[in-house]
Amino acid sequence: MAGPPAAWSNWAGNQHSTALVTERPRTVSEVAEAVRRASAAGRTIRAVGSGHSFTATAVADGHRLDLAELETDVTVDVTRRLVTVPAGMTLHTLNHLLAGHGLAVPNLGDIDAQTIAGALSTGTHGTGAELGCLSTFVAALTLVTGTGEVLRCSADEHRDVFDAARVGLGAVGVLVEVTLRCVDAFVLRAHERPAALAEVLDDLPGLYESHDHAEFYWFPYTDRVQVKTNDRVPADDRPLPRWRGWLDDEFLANTVFAGACRLGRAVPALAPGISAVSARALTERSYTGRSDRVFCTPRRVRFVEMEYGLPRDALPTALAELRRIVDRLPFKVLFPVEVRFTAADDIWLSHGYGRDSAYVAIHQYVGMPYEPYFRAFEKVATELGGRPHWGKLHWRTAESLSTAYPKFTDFLTVRNRLDPNNRFTNPYLRQVLDA
Ligand SMILES: Cc1cc2nc3c(=O)[nH]c(=O)nc-3n(C[C@H](O)[C@H](O)[C@H](O)COP(=O)(O)OP(=O)(O)OC[C@H]3O[C@@H](n4cnc5c(N)ncnc54)[C@H](O)[C@@H]3O)c2cc1C
Repeated sequence: MAGPPAAWSNWAGNQHSTALVTERPRTVSEVAEAVRRASAAGRTIRAVGSGHSFTATAVADGHRLDLAELETDVTVDVTRRLVTVPAGMTLHTLNHLLAGHGLAVPNLGDIDAQTIAGALSTGTHGTGAELGCLSTFVAALTLVTGTGEVLRCSADEHRDVFDAARVGLGAVGVLVEVTLRCVDAFVLRAHERPAALAEVLDDLPGLYESHDHAEFYWFPYTDRVQVKTNDRVPADDRPLPRWRGWLDDEFLANTVFAGACRLGRAVPALAPGISAVSARALTERSYTGRSDRVFCTPRRVRFVEMEYGLPRDALPTALAELRRIVDRLPFKVLFPVEVRFTAADDIWLSHGYGRDSAYVAIHQYVGMPYEPYFRAFEKVATELGGRPHWGKLHWRTAESLSTAYPKFTDFLTVRNRLDPNNRFTNPYLRQVLDA
């Protein structure tokens, strides 16, 4: 169960840690024991998911808790569309399980490699003007507190814990079991098309209100975007031929793009040309498929990322400022900028708390400079009332975050009650909650 110190790094390779002990509990009691053991030794303990956060949120410098082997009962209530699963299950496994019962989660982000607990804890989201982040699909949670107590929360039980723990940053407890509200399995028709940025900005509501899921990618140094929309349709009657899926999503989006990024990193002056060629190379395509397979695609080109949730009407200003920032940087940007939309929710540390959001995600290829770029955009986004994605790079501290989140103090109250000795803390939590 408990292993010796082991080096860990995240997916992007920009965060590292070596915990004193790695714990791999198989039962909820073993999770509680692990928390008590770390606590008795006066050490911290931190759950880690699939390591897909870019921030140091999953860094464990005391005990590391890996929940991949944790088993709790899996129950699928098809009539009520409720599923209860171990929190360390990956989204990929969850999607497969649900499909076998004719169910699905209402929305997903770009990948399915994250654990459910990890995705919920940072406010992971997809796009859909009428849909909140993944945490809004949670009906109940069971967690182990900092004192080793097992607690179940929902809208009717321990409501304040429920409001804090659905996007809990791993600060209020170790999530061990999650009940999710699902929907009947559905098919999506994906439509991807190149467009002019100005045309899209001229009628943003026309884009996000007329589709179930809408997003676009802006290619730096160009006026071009690739618009992607997904809409529910009754039948999977236009599946992407296997070769076309491989060509577009594997070969072009990963292999060729990786080559282009390597070239741009080696010869930065080529980056604007590469961006322009990429924007022009993307063609229109339309296909149908099972919802999770349309939402999620493989991402093999490694990058670092910052993402800000903004009040929707701030989006045009944010993008105009971003263009100015990109043009003035002393280095080039090799990755497109992703823009998505979510609906307001009532989860205390959700980026979408109390407001409809537009998300702007900026990326840079690994090994390229990024900090001046990200910091410059952070300044713009902060002034526009932006909230940084908890799993993506940012430099905000508790002082400024406390004014960005109306329920920040309530969150700290629950955290102090459930983890009175700060057993779950790490350097990232000290930055965003205590500093
Ligand atoms: C290629 C790529 C694509 C991505 N796409 C999207 C996207 O489309 N939308 C989006 O919003 N985000 C996206 N992300 C970000 C990602 O969804 C989040 O960072 C998510 O938190 C990662 O989940 P994880 O399982 O890897 O958790 P980790 O990164 O390992 O951990 C995240 C947090 O969860 C906590 N945690 C983990 N398990 C538990 C538990 N059992 N109990 C309590 N706390 C726990 C950790 O302590 C940590 O604070 C993407 C990231 C990558 C690398």
